[in-house]
Amino acid sequence: MPDTGPPELRGNIFEIQRFSIHDGPGIRTTVFMKGCPLRCVWCHNPESISPEPSLAFDPRLCIGCGYCSRVCPRGAHGMDGTVHTLDRSKCAVCGKCTEHCYAQALEFVGRRVSVDEVMNEVLRDAPFYETSGGGMTLSGGEPTFQVDFAMGLLHAARNHGIHTVVQTCGYAEAAVFEAMMPLVDLFLFDIKETDPEKHLAFTGVSFRRIHQNLRMLHDHGAAVILRSPIIPGCNECEDFVAGIETLATSLPNLAGVELMACNPLSESKVQRFGVNPASRAPAARPNADLVERWCERLRAAGLRVRNEPSSRAQTGD
Ligand code: SF4
Ligand code: SF4
Repeated sequence: MPDTGPPELRGNIFEIQRFSIHDGPGIRTTVFMKGCPLRCVWCHNPESISPEPSLAFDPRLCIGCGYCSRVCPRGAHGMDGTVHTLDRSKCAVCGKCTEHCYAQALEFVGRRVSVDEVMNEVLRDAPFYETSGGGMTLSGGEPTFQVDFAMGLLHAARNHGIHTVVQTCGYAEAAVFEAMMPLVDLFLFDIKETDPEKHLAFTGVSFRRIHQNLRMLHDHGAAVILRSPIIPGCNECEDFVAGIETLATSLPNLAGVELMACNPLSESKVQRFGVNPASRAPAARPNADLVERWCERLRAAGLRVRNEPSSRAQTGD
């Protein structure tokens, strides 16, 4: 057998976004990776949670033809008269129905790609990175969830002299962050709650490991911006901001703090990915004046607040 060398490193992504300006400095290409260990009640990217491709169904496009119910080997699709039904608990994500839905109401979200395929896309905008101070950002999902693939992308970016940012929820083995550190120019590190019980309730995981990783990165000299989504009905409260202030001021070399006024999860995504309403945070925008006041409070505490002058609404997970 001829030696074909090591197998090509591949991973699952759900989007590559070019000309991104909110995922680190300058103009960036953001690679959205699939898979996340958290289950945030406000998650804006439900398609990012599974590490495998996800089945999306858009009821607005469905014409009730029933082809899907004929081809699905698991009986996940059904027809109630002319009304289509989908039982996601039966779906094995084989993709067969997406090939037979001529109305394109069904589609696969996510694809398996090689490091080279991603880098070919990233390198298209290399001239813009140079002039703007931008580069490549790994986001998700959670980039550490596919650590080998993430490392492959970071190594490749380093070899091309491209600035790297990793946007992370911080929930991984410390060894993963230790390995990544030399390849990452900036971590955008999410802190979603500082109260341990609330953190568990909002995200499904303990805050302890996240907190330890944040401190470890900081103590080892990594550039870290602490970012917090502000979610009405969850962490939009004085206690959370006080917790952020205490945590951030205990990390003197932090590159900055950002309070993110996130938009609620769009109704179309709720429908397309079958998000359980009982698992969702209330769909409301945060109070922009309140967020601005809290930014002032953090500035007064001596922190480098990264918010733009008037707090913009944005998406985030
Ligand atoms: S992806 Fe496969 S198992 Fe899932 S609903 Fe479609 S045909 Fe059925
Ligand atoms: S094949 Fe597509 S358009 Fe036809 S019933 Fe199924 S989801 Fe609807």
